[in-house]
Amino acid sequence: MFKKDWCFSLDEQIHEESAEEGGMFARSLSALRRGPARGVAGSRQIRLFHDEGTLAQGHRRRALEATAMARTHGDVVVHTVPALSDNYIFILEHQKRKQVAVIDPSESKPVVDRLEDLGLSLDCILNTHHHYDHTDGNLALKDRYDCKVFGFSGDSSRIPGITHHLSEGSEFHFGDELVEVLETPGHTTGHVSFYFPRSKIAFVGDTLFVMGCGRLFEGSPQQMHASLQKLATTLPADTTVYCAHEYTMSNAKFAITVDSGNQALADRFREIESLRSQKLKTVPTTMEAELKTNPFLRCGDGDLKRCIGMAGDAEEVEVFRRVRQLKDNF
Ligand SMILES: [Zn+2]
Repeated sequence: MFKKDWCFSLDEQIHEESAEEGGMFARSLSALRRGPARGVAGSRQIRLFHDEGTLAQGHRRRALEATAMARTHGDVVVHTVPALSDNYIFILEHQKRKQVAVIDPSESKPVVDRLEDLGLSLDCILNTHHHYDHTDGNLALKDRYDCKVFGFSGDSSRIPGITHHLSEGSEFHFGDELVEVLETPGHTTGHVSFYFPRSKIAFVGDTLFVMGCGRLFEGSPQQMHASLQKLATTLPADTTVYCAHEYTMSNAKFAITVDSGNQALADRFREIESLRSQKLKTVPTTMEAELKTNPFLRCGDGDLKRCIGMAGDAEEVEVFRRVRQLKDNF
């Protein structure tokens, strides 16, 4: 069995770029040596322990990344896999039921590499929307693992290899955990978010970002505003939210221009700046943090309205439209 006492106890902020540095690499390796060796994870640890002198550095580094870039939520371990220039792919591993899912595989190779490092196969792909940087890995992964592909029913013709068609209120099980599907259009006309209420995690694709939201490529401001409100009202504040891109620094720089009086935002800006200066990831976030600092979720706030020159009684959706326009031209 996987046990978090060695496999997932490292500081989740240890990033692949940090792991390349000697000090962090040594620290990670010593952390790997600590725990017991059992099952799949254990066998990998033994290999690292005994063969570390002869293993290719690239292989060792990938193994370390695989450990550092993971976080446990109840029975579900979420492994973060950076891809393309700023995408995050998430591999979900149900520890008790031995099921594995991948969210939005923009590429297949980094997913296969990580699965092999972890000694895992793949049961299903979950796509939030049809864009290539969320689905390009679908067919190669389906071919290799004969896995299911879940996606929005209205985008059946745009999601490669789709086998399971989802819409608002759809539910399915991952291991023994119920997954709820929320339609969250706006970035694209078809977009779904996946909510795991027991583990208190959500995967929101390109709808909600850390201190930002997706561009309106196909949908309207009304749709995106409604989708963000749906997330804000459906997901409890302590939900951990996984977004599909590392856009946080640019979002934070914009946010302070439209919500300049927000002390929570100012504090978070400094945290984000520090993380990004060390090339550490800022995803996941929480609904609580977003409700306090994400301007796209604060369109009803009087100070924010004043900051962008709108009247106190301006409709929230109009405030949203204006904030989105400002961000598009930032
Ligand atoms: Zn997209």
